[in-house]
Amino acid sequence: MPKLIKNVGCPYCGSSCDDIEVLVSDDETQIIDVHNACIIGNNLFHHANDPTRPRLPRMRQPDGSMKEIPYPEAIDWMAKTMLAAKKPLIYGFGSTNCEGMSAVARIAEKSGAVLDNCATICHGPSFLAIFDNGYPSCTLGEAKNRADVVVFWGCNPMHAHPRHTSRYSIFPRGYFTQKGQMQRTVISVDPRQTDTAKLADIHLMLDQGHDYELFDAFRTVMRGYDIPDVVAGIKKETIQEAVGIMKKARFVMIFFGMGCTHSDGRNHNVDHAISMVRDLNTFTKASIMAMRGHYNIAGPGQVWSWIFGFPYCIDLSKGTHAHMNPGETSSVDLAMRDEVDCFVNVGADAGAHFPIQAVQHLKKHPFIAVDPNFCMASEIADLHIPVRIAGVDEPGVVYRMDNVPIQFKAVIKGLPGVPSDEELFDMVYERMCELTNTQPIWLAAKEDRKHPSNISAVNEA
Ligand code: SF4
Repeated sequence: MPKLIKNVGCPYCGSSCDDIEVLVSDDETQIIDVHNACIIGNNLFHHANDPTRPRLPRMRQPDGSMKEIPYPEAIDWMAKTMLAAKKPLIYGFGSTNCEGMSAVARIAEKSGAVLDNCATICHGPSFLAIFDNGYPSCTLGEAKNRADVVVFWGCNPMHAHPRHTSRYSIFPRGYFTQKGQMQRTVISVDPRQTDTAKLADIHLMLDQGHDYELFDAFRTVMRGYDIPDVVAGIKKETIQEAVGIMKKARFVMIFFGMGCTHSDGRNHNVDHAISMVRDLNTFTKASIMAMRGHYNIAGPGQVWSWIFGFPYCIDLSKGTHAHMNPGETSSVDLAMRDEVDCFVNVGADAGAHFPIQAVQHLKKHPFIAVDPNFCMASEIADLHIPVRIAGVDEPGVVYRMDNVPIQFKAVIKGLPGVPSDEELFDMVYERMCELTNTQPIWLAAKEDRKHPSNISAVNEA
């Protein structure tokens, strides 16, 4: 009998929807149907059924072709290659669980690598602004229950986070927002007439790249000063109207995206946005949130901050302490200056999403892809190691865009013999310890955590 599994998490976008229902075959190897997910999430689950999913690592041969090899051989090659490198770069982690992010940290330490995640090409500028100016944020539940004015600045959730508006931001009826959409005023700030902008009550179609000026104008009006007749292509009266609505609101929620972090000004745009939220809080209650992209891209920020004190761009090559300086220790900058001599791509696709010049530099050195599927990175790699898909055939903890942790389930059995990211990294770490004649202390500590009786036995002795 097929089995319906409820409260499943969707491992795609930062909305991290945890109300998905998945119907699986009685032997728990096939996904038959998916309920509640948007079209992207639906496709992701069904893709796990793909019979062509790789089941063995593949190594590049002298003639350029790829040949399947056993896992122990791939693990040995990865361990030796990383130990031989002076400065490996380990990048990705938007799409895996926190257990994998924790396990890879030991490999990074052991090899003196730079550890970085997709934030480096996404909301990294937001981190820089947060370091400078703080983060007056809240959870998505607060937005759902309280927000009567919702601003989407430089983001298009109708395409990038398809259920965001129905679960958290526009349509849901919350505790203090019983009338749902009827009770909310939606403002979109975007140079394009996006599908989100079409839903908005007010669309400020600013000149592309002029967000900083517009934030400045908003703050100036908010403080009661005059502004020029037109700022960033928007008329003074429209800015005054939007600011008036925000000041009169009971709770203003500002969501921002790549329109702020990828355009001129980057972290300074976000810095201004945070200051605007501060200003607004002298009149009403207001909060701000980065529209984080992948379902667990907030995860590495959390996990690596506990371990190293930094969320991304973590340079461990000094061996004694971690060092972070985006611009110097960020993946694309390191690649463009050809400063790394081994690249490991995990749960992301640098092959598709890095600038081509950066990829060309990375390709001069050993290139390893750890990914459940075939992707651009796996197709240009020297070694491709398949792993299980977190949230589909591997459970784990993920952090939603508001940094709320959610336990994701596995809905089907993993492919036989294919490890999870965590298992793979533990095996590579163990092999690195063998090769360097050191104790795998981290694995011993993990075993003790799983079997606390070991610790009490040690204590008693
Ligand atoms: S909105 Fe995002 S998390 Fe939710 S079902 Fe769609 S892709 Fe998955």
